[in-house]
Amino acid sequence: MAALFISDLHLDAAHPAITEQFLSFLRADAAAADALYILGDLFESWIGDDAVDTAQSAVVGALRALGDGGVPCFVMRGNRDFLFGERFEAASGAVLIEDPIVLTLYGRRVLVMHGDALCTDDRAYQRLRATVRDPEWQRRFLELKADDRRALAGAARAGSRAHTAAIEYAIADVNSGSVAAALRAADADILLHGHTHRPAVHRFEVDGRARTRIVLGDWHRQGSVLRWDRSGYELCVLPRGAAAGIGGGPE
Ligand code: MN
Repeated sequence: MAALFISDLHLDAAHPAITEQFLSFLRADAAAADALYILGDLFESWIGDDAVDTAQSAVVGALRALGDGGVPCFVMRGNRDFLFGERFEAASGAVLIEDPIVLTLYGRRVLVMHGDALCTDDRAYQRLRATVRDPEWQRRFLELKADDRRALAGAARAGSRAHTAAIEYAIADVNSGSVAAALRAADADILLHGHTHRPAVHRFEVDGRARTRIVLGDWHRQGSVLRWDRSGYELCVLPRGAAAGIGGGPE
């Protein structure tokens, strides 16, 4: 038995192959796990628990089925689905978890984050993040009509794509000083996050202590999952069928 970690699926009605792969992942791998952790950006967009489309509903129902089958599911908000609220929690049966959070996994303290808060070289993004995470901003946004919210979210995604394309590759990655500070504050040797879509296991030292940063991959062209059990962890690729071949870059 293992705990499974995924992130950055960016599920969207426009890319049904990703949703199909995720639904079969829930029925097979996840159903046989101890727990499933989704570390942000499950959905490409989430404009509020009251404005869920058909494709999103199917995913929420599948999460509920996983929980009903006895596998607990924990969901962290990402920069795309930071508006998950109590109604999502109730409908999915999943438990929303804070970002950051320290988990104890098989005796190891692991700092778990979505990862966007670590990209501190991207000052423009951090300003945007501070705005949209403000409870007052969220309250006002959620009062808008769903169509208006959808239009604003679409414009924000287009702006985000243009911004990511314009900045240097290194700027869009995590800042090593921020990584060190987060590990130090959490008194953890392992950091696990997604967001950057750069799957890898990095080993380095902070304050003379060996540390590890595990980065989950996105699901644009294939699945990515971290399997963690008593014997350790493994970052795995989940190939998609030959019918795959959707486009899409990072972010
Ligand atoms: Mn993200």
